[in-house]
Amino acid sequence: MTLRTGRHFLQIPGPTNVPDQVLRAMAAPTIDHRGPEFAELGLRVLQRIKPVFGTTNPVVIYPASGTGAWEAALVNTLSPGDRVLCFETGHFATLWQEMAGSLGLEVDFVPGDWRHGADPAELTRRLEADISHSLKAVCVVHNETSTGVTSRIAEIRRALDDAGHPALLLVDTISSLGSIDYRHDEWGVDVTVAGSQKGLMLPPGLSFNAVSDKALAASRTARLPRSFWDWEPIIESNRRGYFPYTPATNLLYGLAVALDMLDAEGLPEVYARHARHAAATRAAVRGWGLEVLCADEREHSGSLTAVLMPEGHDADKVRKVILERFDMSLGAGLGKLSGRVFRIGHLGHFNDLTLAGTLAGVQMGLELSGVPTDPAGLGAALDVLRNP
Ligand SMILES: *Cc1c(COP(=O)(O)O)cnc(C)c1O
Repeated sequence: MTLRTGRHFLQIPGPTNVPDQVLRAMAAPTIDHRGPEFAELGLRVLQRIKPVFGTTNPVVIYPASGTGAWEAALVNTLSPGDRVLCFETGHFATLWQEMAGSLGLEVDFVPGDWRHGADPAELTRRLEADISHSLKAVCVVHNETSTGVTSRIAEIRRALDDAGHPALLLVDTISSLGSIDYRHDEWGVDVTVAGSQKGLMLPPGLSFNAVSDKALAASRTARLPRSFWDWEPIIESNRRGYFPYTPATNLLYGLAVALDMLDAEGLPEVYARHARHAAATRAAVRGWGLEVLCADEREHSGSLTAVLMPEGHDADKVRKVILERFDMSLGAGLGKLSGRVFRIGHLGHFNDLTLAGTLAGVQMGLELSGVPTDPAGLGAALDVLRNP
């Protein structure tokens, strides 16, 4: 191991850099999770997390990674053999529909090219063809972390409404919550799935389900087996600020502080900051003469950018050079994008100079790896950052 000085740059799209004040909060002694002090913490975080989802309904918190909350969304609302519609937006959408299949659901998987979001027009066609309303849920990954493409959830909602189709809408916001504008109630989402280690600036270990009244009603008759993930006993305990089992107490200390930080900045400002950093990153990529993977101007992700490598160049080699030379981690290409893209995470605890440093490291790494790179890229990003 070579000696490293200064901070590691963790520029993968999750886990993200954890702010010092969150780390300090988590270092406090663990308290009795059945005692009065805990109830205060529980009630506080359960209440204050709601605006981040854009909901006034219950948000269930699990001591689990995001994958657990995927499972919770499905097993609480659906029954064996139910048909669900999923969109192949990328690697995470593919994993979620695989899970649905392994839980005993019938999956209609709409093929995609991993450069576009879920297509509202295709959804309309599928819903109109489903005269008997045999589709019970539509699953969409809001921000596809493998591609840097953000699906247009408001338009997905409109397609469901215009078709008069009663399917539940389940949305994965694991890499968008707290980074990209999101409105659970306004967009009529039934279950929103989220995780702690991306926009919420926490370590991995917590995940979330925001739950609509319609989803709660569905959970009363849904028959997929569930026990640990069952919303009902959790929501019942949560009313008094407690959990039915030992919660991840220290992560909840961190969550309380992270929510204070988001609140202090203001959610609209948080979203604008991410959008601006994403725009600066795209300016750099295009300035280098490289291509952004996302192919639709309306769907660029605010939280990460996937960069397509020119033919004959291996993205993993570039990432290796950047890690060894500059102590910066970038996201790998996942699934069928392995070696073809690298991903720059620009979400969470992040500012202009973190981005400038990140992009400087990427530019030097590309040059050192022999990838044809116009050095004007960094300057193009700085031009974006220079303006407020
Ligand atoms: C990170 C991520 C997941 C997986 O979450 P884990 O916490 O690793 O289980 C799922 N979906 C999306 C969109 C993600 O970004």
